[in-house]
Amino acid sequence: METKAYVDYMVQQTVDILGIDSPTGFTANAAKHLMGEYEKLGYKPVMTTKGGILVDLGGKNEDDAILIEAHMDTLGGMVCKIKDNGNLELTPLGGFSPNNGEAENCRIYTRDGKIYEGTFQLNDASVHVNGEYSTKTREFKGMEVVIDEEVSSADDTKALGIMIGDIVAFEPRTRVTDSGYIKSRFLDDKLSVGILLGQAKYLADNNITPERKVYHHITVYEEVGHGACGTVPEGVTEILSVDMGCIGDGLDCKETQVSICAKDSGGPYNYEVVSNLINAAKENDIDFAVDVYPHYGSDADAALGAGYDVKHGLIGAGVYASHGYERSHKKGVENTFKLLINYVR
Ligand SMILES: [Zn+2]
Repeated sequence: METKAYVDYMVQQTVDILGIDSPTGFTANAAKHLMGEYEKLGYKPVMTTKGGILVDLGGKNEDDAILIEAHMDTLGGMVCKIKDNGNLELTPLGGFSPNNGEAENCRIYTRDGKIYEGTFQLNDASVHVNGEYSTKTREFKGMEVVIDEEVSSADDTKALGIMIGDIVAFEPRTRVTDSGYIKSRFLDDKLSVGILLGQAKYLADNNITPERKVYHHITVYEEVGHGACGTVPEGVTEILSVDMGCIGDGLDCKETQVSICAKDSGGPYNYEVVSNLINAAKENDIDFAVDVYPHYGSDADAALGAGYDVKHGLIGAGVYASHGYERSHKKGVENTFKLLINYVR
């Protein structure tokens, strides 16, 4: 199987999607872009009421369909207070740690369509002035967005059109190195969205009609837990989440591998699905790891929690430093793509 052209396509798609800010609750721009990409491949994507994207990729057996999911929403912030000094206090969107956002550039999206730049900083962020700089615990209460506009009061900031409830998106700082590493915020889960597009392109290019009906659902609100609580088409018997594979102490996975999750915080994944994924990886010389994720929930977990009677699984390219400045590798993308293609024949 010649995969290089597909890996290039998936990485480029990922880079493009990373270039569109989409904190959870603010995903319309990313959705519009992705609708267009599926249409270019010849599919007819449908936008769900909630703002996700459902795509029918064809397939024979409609009573044993598989729904493959990745999420386009990311972590971010929301303005919860306009401070007396004109700067902004944030509340996190999703499980964003303030440590991971410190000193990062960000964009403030106002409701009347303006975008302002700023930087997320510790309050009183000059080391030469603040004697407690090193010891302060980083928390949203003690940090602020310093707006790159000449403001010195709450009224100055309000005059810009900035309001409580405005969305703040953090700069992803995307890099692809010559050695194949992909570094960016929000590879969780835009890397998997790129991989799903790769599968859609592969099926279209090669005129493949899978044995089972295949759907893609690009979800929104995964980062707050209800991404996949709806939009399960008639006939779906299995939900496969494609989301970042965990890397860290005590886990086997590397950035160059596809991770198959056996259990996460939601409990064990379907025994048969996990076994079939492992067998598909072994039979096709795919570099993989099986792991247990200590602190993790997926779209597939959410669908089961919502009451759907389906089998569920979770795979994804290994991603290090998750929910921070994340890193994966082109080989991880390739192995995830190959597993998807071979699992859904
Ligand atoms: Zn995720």
